[in-house]
Amino acid sequence: MRGNGKRDRFVVIGGGISGLSSAFYLLKQAKQRGRDALVTIVDPSERIGGKINTLKRDGFTIERGPDSFLARKTPIIDLAYDLGIENQLVGTNPKAKKTYILHHGKLHPMPPGLVLGVPTEIAPFAKTSLLSWGGKLRAMMDFVTPASKETGDESIGHFLTRRVGAEVMERVAEPLLAGIYAGELNKLSLASTFPQFRDAERKHGSLIRGMRANKRLAASTPAVATRLPDAVKNSMFLTFRGGLETMLEALHTALASAEWKLGNKAVAFRQNDPDEHGGDVAPYEVLLSDGEILEADGIVITAPAFDAADLLEPHMNVDALRAIRYVSVANVVMAFDKATLGIDFDGSGFVVPRTEGTTITACTWTSAKWLHSSPSDKVLLRCYVGRSGDEAVVDLSDNQMTEAVRRDIRNTMGITAEPLFTEITRLHHSMPQYPVGHLQETAKLRTKLRAQMPGVWVTGAAFDGVGLPDCIRQGKEAAMGVYKSLIGDFK
Ligand SMILES: Cc1cc2nc3c(=O)[nH]c(=O)nc-3n(C[C@H](O)[C@H](O)[C@H](O)COP(=O)(O)OP(=O)(O)OC[C@H]3O[C@@H](n4cnc5c(N)ncnc54)[C@H](O)[C@@H]3O)c2cc1C
Repeated sequence: MRGNGKRDRFVVIGGGISGLSSAFYLLKQAKQRGRDALVTIVDPSERIGGKINTLKRDGFTIERGPDSFLARKTPIIDLAYDLGIENQLVGTNPKAKKTYILHHGKLHPMPPGLVLGVPTEIAPFAKTSLLSWGGKLRAMMDFVTPASKETGDESIGHFLTRRVGAEVMERVAEPLLAGIYAGELNKLSLASTFPQFRDAERKHGSLIRGMRANKRLAASTPAVATRLPDAVKNSMFLTFRGGLETMLEALHTALASAEWKLGNKAVAFRQNDPDEHGGDVAPYEVLLSDGEILEADGIVITAPAFDAADLLEPHMNVDALRAIRYVSVANVVMAFDKATLGIDFDGSGFVVPRTEGTTITACTWTSAKWLHSSPSDKVLLRCYVGRSGDEAVVDLSDNQMTEAVRRDIRNTMGITAEPLFTEITRLHHSMPQYPVGHLQETAKLRTKLRAQMPGVWVTGAAFDGVGLPDCIRQGKEAAMGVYKSLIGDFK
């Protein structure tokens, strides 16, 4: 273990939100401990932020990657305070709370009380035109179906079908939940994605009863809300007035003392034994694509699982990382003159079940949901394309994709107007799919890594949550973990 007096050298591999958070918390903790630290951030892109990518165009704020985050997840709120940007948080338009689901080509409002696709209010659920009576009755069987005695992981699709039936799963839960991962519910791990479902069944013997209890608990403990600026206290989702790049800019400023190796890839790393060399060599050396070698006392790998696997493979079995498949998606943003549409967008958008056969998987009415995103006389729509099992569409030409999306918005919303402009973003291999058993397998890999290479941490969206707050939490945990292995008593 390392004493005081030497400079701590850390290499963070990946300049996405996980890597930037980890770099930020490494430096913050070093400062609190009065230690001198050098953090080097490596990313093959010339731009920081990874998936986060905000575009400013003609008065619009357009997100090409993530667009917002869940307000109740505190790590991102804490980071906003740490960076002094909490006053730039904005919430969704309170007048656009409705969400629609496409069913047989028509938009149906989502019944009130649905929480992550699970009904928690019976009266509106009973009235919805989205489901057959058989489907509704099957969902109510949840109250009498005994909890499973199995303790292992299962897919979300299997779990939901078991609890509330195939119809609710396919028509309501699937389009809502699968959108977060662009995945197939029958393949995604329940324990790694929605553990609260499993806990609800275990504690309350019923998913619906458990989700109701969670809702009551959340309403009676507004712990996060009190820390939020008044203006955004009642919004479930938040972003920043200037877009998510606000956070990147603030992190870049806060990381002024860091060393940036952008346009450069980490291609390998080596472990040394400093004792063998009289303490003259660093415990690790990271080789970059331009041939430079960085000495490191600690390394945080935040690259996607397939890149992390390439780096770790010479040192250990990386099957757990190779098992994480990544789905490719695209989004098509279209801007319109409000006057040419004549539509009252009274909600935040709609989601599309697989059975509808459209190219788009969802459409956010961005200008209605986020008032800051567009000039008041304009409309901004963001259509999502591609999901697990339907990825070829991502490689359509710009013209083909635009045509397909325009056909879908004409059929679903009656929009025939010419867009003012269209922005297409393709994100190849961007959505990690946590397979059943993911938690145990990645935990094993990390335990082995810690034992074999103390000070090397692998983290990010591939592990324990894809949402921005989860990535920030994981970046922070990695910073603590790496430092702890370096100087022991780190808190
Ligand atoms: C289309 C889309 C929409 C989303 N919407 C939301 C949303 O609204 N809200 C939300 O909370 N989350 C959302 N997410 C999820 C969230 O954006 C991501 O999970 C998160 O940004 C991932 O951050 P990360 O730092 O872990 O990974 P990344 O952002 O992927 O960063 C990893 C970085 O590692 C770099 N890298 C790779 N190999 C190497 C190497 N060998 N050496 C050095 N660097 C390397 C890459 O270039 C990349 O910059 C969305 C994701 C996508 C794709």
